[in-house]
This record gives sequence, C-alpha cells and structure tokens, in this order.
Amino acid sequence: MSANKRALGPLYVVRNSRIHGRGVFAARYIRKGTRILEYKGERIDNDEADRRYDDTKMKRHHTFLFTLDAKTVIDGAPEVGGGDASFINHSCDPNCEAVITDRKIFIHALRGIEPGTELAYDYQYERTGKNDAALEKFYVCRCGSANCRGTIMKPAKKKKRRRR
Ligand SMILES: [Zn+2]
Repeated sequence: MSANKRALGPLYVVRNSRIHGRGVFAARYIRKGTRILEYKGERIDNDEADRRYDDTKMKRHHTFLFTLDAKTVIDGAPEVGGGDASFINHSCDPNCEAVITDRKIFIHALRGIEPGTELAYDYQYERTGKNDAALEKFYVCRCGSANCRGTIMKPAKKKKRRRR
C-alpha cells in the first residue's frame, strides 16, 4: 500500500446493513471506475457448489457463490477464505459492478460513491426455467431502490453474473 493510501485510510468498511446482514460501505469518496476490492474465496466446481448449497434446505436466502466461468465457482464464505467482498449486498440500482479480469473477480465503482454509502452490485442470479416463480420469491429483494424488481434473480435475457 502506498503512503498516499495509508494517509487517506481504507476505501471501505464492513458493518451492519439495512438491506441484509452485514454490508460494505464507502469509508471515503470512491471515484467512478475505481477497482475497490477482489471477490475472494475458494475455487470449486459446480458439483461441489451444489453439495455445499442446496436451495431447498437453505434457511439463509443467499449464498456466497459467484460464478467465475462455466466450470468454476468461487465460494466466498468466510470459513473458506472469503473476503470483505462477500458481504456486499445486492441492489437493483447498484453503484458497483463485478468485473472478471485474468480469472479474478473485482468489484468496481459504477459511479462516484459518497462516504457512508453502502456498496452494492446486481447479483443477477441465473434463471433455470424451472421453478422460477418460486425462486423469485425465495430470492426476494428488499434493496429499496425505486426500480427494485422484487427479486435478486436476473431479469430475463440479461448477461449472467452470479450463480444462484
Ligand atoms: Zn431490489
């Protein structure tokens, strides 16, 4: 870390969120396009992800899984090496986006973010075509944005980002 960054302090802080559980908040102004942090965790395949997270048995309405590519999922749970990015909540009107670079996932600022603002990106959980209506309710969204679509599943026909 550069002396300049130390002087300014960290970009973000993890604390309780009104959206869900813990969240990640800007600790100072974050410029549009800033690479804020990496989505860290254990790299596993889809079968292992299914073993770890069974939607039908889960009480918690989200997981820490993030699809890296067709074969690889990153499990960002704290017990397996997940980092602060795992606590970033979903929003239907996000101020961040996830960008995959060199097989790593980074959270970037989509716009200038004021200190104290909660960071969020659009999870866009994949639709399978099966039980979508039920899953929409399971993955209910309470982000509070004006354009909230009511679910953290992706809208129909949009690019895949995060695994459900
Ligand atoms: Zn929403």
